[in-house]
Amino acid sequence: MTRSTRVAVIGGGIVGCAVLYGLAKRGWSDALLLERRQLTSGSTWHAAGNTTYFGPYAAMTRLFTGSIKTYLEAEALSGQSVGFHQTGSLRLATSEAELAAYRALEPLYAGLDIPYHVISPAEVAGIYPLLNVDDLCGAAHTPTDGHVDASGATYALARAARQSGAGIMTNTPVGAIERAGSRWRIRTDDDMIEADHVVLAASFWTRELAEPLGLNLPLYAVQHHEFITERVAALAANPVELPTVRDPRAPANIRQERDGFLCGVYEQNPEFWAIDGIPKDFTEELLPPDLDRLMPELERVIERLPCFGETGIKTVNNGPICYTPDGMPLLGPVAGLPGMWLASGFTVGIGTGGGAGDYLAHWMVNGAPEYDLAITNPARFPNDMDRATILARIAATYAAGYALK
Ligand SMILES: Cc1cc2nc3c(=O)[nH]c(=O)nc-3n(C[C@H](O)[C@H](O)[C@H](O)COP(=O)(O)OP(=O)(O)OC[C@H]3O[C@@H](n4cnc5c(N)ncnc54)[C@H](O)[C@@H]3O)c2cc1C
Repeated sequence: MTRSTRVAVIGGGIVGCAVLYGLAKRGWSDALLLERRQLTSGSTWHAAGNTTYFGPYAAMTRLFTGSIKTYLEAEALSGQSVGFHQTGSLRLATSEAELAAYRALEPLYAGLDIPYHVISPAEVAGIYPLLNVDDLCGAAHTPTDGHVDASGATYALARAARQSGAGIMTNTPVGAIERAGSRWRIRTDDDMIEADHVVLAASFWTRELAEPLGLNLPLYAVQHHEFITERVAALAANPVELPTVRDPRAPANIRQERDGFLCGVYEQNPEFWAIDGIPKDFTEELLPPDLDRLMPELERVIERLPCFGETGIKTVNNGPICYTPDGMPLLGPVAGLPGMWLASGFTVGIGTGGGAGDYLAHWMVNGAPEYDLAITNPARFPNDMDRATILARIAATYAAGYALK
């Protein structure tokens, strides 16, 4: 069957669903999302759901702030809970240089009307008594961010988009994308879909989808571990959920997950996954954990949070996460391919996906972006970058964790 649509969005993770919602909300409801399996099937289903207002890159802050806003908007429209826990976050500083960099961001947050405070080690201990603050110079505190249920947020966006008239086809892998006159032709197992615009929101799969179009996109999957602990008595006794902590020294993030901790670690020697091609039969799987190479980082987490080390690990999740060489997504039009757009390469796609979908949809509908975000311009990487260079830069970016750029 041949179908026609104004926009085809390929990929039903949080980013693709956010783009679809952003388009439908602006009246472009003649839009169809195509998903290989089920919504959230890629990285989204196993994400911790952390959505901070403190991005490592000041230029991205509006994507972070726009994300929570978009998820709550979709929740209100659809009735689907996004599971937002407004715990706030602490971004620790172990050097005066870090603290000065946090202070320099105060006007940015004041301009965005987002509560943001640079606080002393004693204040950190007051907010989070379980933390070892001995070596801290202070922290940035963003009291109104937190975490969402990544799947809940994706389904809320999808449902709200559907309510506005957009379409979603699951179990529909896109095979090929070709130019057809002034439009694009997309082949699936059963259909041919013609579209004026195509949005590639397929994360690390986008590299393979775009190759036949002559694009050499620097998108590869890195393995990323997160740990969920057993019950911690001190947490169970605390009536208020603790903030999420991001510790650049580890580097790691730690948040409360019910009565335990959930901790994501950025190791110094990361491993890639499936660099020669994503296995065709890859489903909602996790990768085998490899704790040995994470021990130095985990030891620093225990130094920061001694009770983490006194608690058993209940679950280890090792999942693929998409990276570009500088850790920024590819968000915007593809030069030389009219109507082709990229929304791929999201390493913190829950934290930035809602805002990114809104940003791209605004650009597509209005013909110009709402504000300049050159840092995510897909054209910033040369098309002839070789794989070894791409992988080396991705590994360095991953290992840098929360170092400020
Ligand atoms: C352990 C772990 C914890 C994480 N925790 C956090 C966190 O706390 N906060 C945060 O912000 N980020 C976190 N992330 C990262 C986050 O999961 C990703 O950034 C985010 O899910 C990316 O969303 P996406 O929509 O770009 O990609 P995906 O969710 O991967 O979606 C891409 C979709 O495209 C589909 N697709 C692929 N090929 C095709 C095709 N040919 N045709 C049709 N569909 C196709 C796939 O099936 C998939 O559903 C974490 C990642 C990991 C691994």
